[in-house]
Amino acid sequence: MPSSFEFIVLGGGIAGASAAYVLSRHGRVALLEKESQCGFHSTSRSAAVLSCAYGPRSWQILSAASAGFYAEPPERFTETSLAKPLGALYLGSAHEEESLRMRAADLVERGVACELISTETAGRMVPMVHMENFALALHEPGCVDLDTNALLNGYLREARRRGAKIMVKAEIGSITRSSSIWQIATGNETFEAPILIDSAGAWADEVAARAGLPRRGLTPLRRTAITFAPPAGHEARRWPMTFDLAETWYLKPEGRQIMCHPPTSCRPNPAMRSPMPTISRSPSTVSKASPA
Ligand SMILES: Cc1cc2nc3c(=O)[nH]c(=O)nc-3n(C[C@H](O)[C@H](O)[C@H](O)COP(=O)(O)OP(=O)(O)OC[C@H]3O[C@@H](n4cnc5c(N)ncnc54)[C@H](O)[C@@H]3O)c2cc1C
Repeated sequence: MPSSFEFIVLGGGIAGASAAYVLSRHGRVALLEKESQCGFHSTSRSAAVLSCAYGPRSWQILSAASAGFYAEPPERFTETSLAKPLGALYLGSAHEEESLRMRAADLVERGVACELISTETAGRMVPMVHMENFALALHEPGCVDLDTNALLNGYLREARRRGAKIMVKAEIGSITRSSSIWQIATGNETFEAPILIDSAGAWADEVAARAGLPRRGLTPLRRTAITFAPPAGHEARRWPMTFDLAETWYLKPEGRQIMCHPPTSCRPNPAMRSPMPTISRSPSTVSKASPA
């Protein structure tokens, strides 16, 4: 006999966990994660920064809409703070100056605290970057560093408290649909629900295809991030998250270290069924970082 639910969530990253959290208010939820723990892939490897100035306008609006939850999570959700002050700096080259000015004006109009600053001022904030490659900077002081672990566990704990069934090592065998009911078979169990949420991250297309739905063109990518010590005499802890405007690279203070996502570090990896982003550690100390 299949176990019946109102919602089946496939994938236990931050998207699946938050969906389970919200949907568990409305009905019985089963969350199926194929790895041995939730958050195993992108979610636990994220730089975990919430910036309301980042990405396309639609992302900025969504980020701003969720900022309040992280600043003041519901009672019982977490025992630690979800968001710590960080700040963000976006660096624009001469040909991006106009676009940076337009972004700043739009953000200010929407109530996001930010200001345009000279590259000289930006250079004092992040002395490691070759500022001569840039013409103008946007500083967003309200950008925060999120505690992904606390967030993920808060969602899962609250969902469980409301009766959600969270299952790991739940490898999906088949996905079928009959009379408007989805049936998901895992190793030795079958689950059914009228609503299926595909939150399998980079593998969402794989899940969609198994359900007989069209692919959207998602490709799992391998990503590289490096961490390294700041140049001697520099204290990186107070540096803001720093991006070039086109986001070919960024750097972020991680404790006493600097985390850097270098250019061209995303590669398709079709050989791996569940490719993991690579986090490599570099022992080298750099004196300067350049986007060139
Ligand atoms: C290096 C790096 C830095 C990042 N920095 C930031 C940042 O600063 N700010 C930000 O907002 N975002 C950042 N991101 C992006 C962010 O991490 C992702 O957008 C987010 O984690 C995606 O969550 P997800 O739940 O969609 O995917 P995932 O966390 O990948 O979760 C998908 C889950 O689905 C499971 N799954 C796959 N197939 C199946 C299946 N068939 N059955 C069951 N389960 C399945 C997987 O095992 C996985 O656990 C960063 C990402 C990386 C890699």
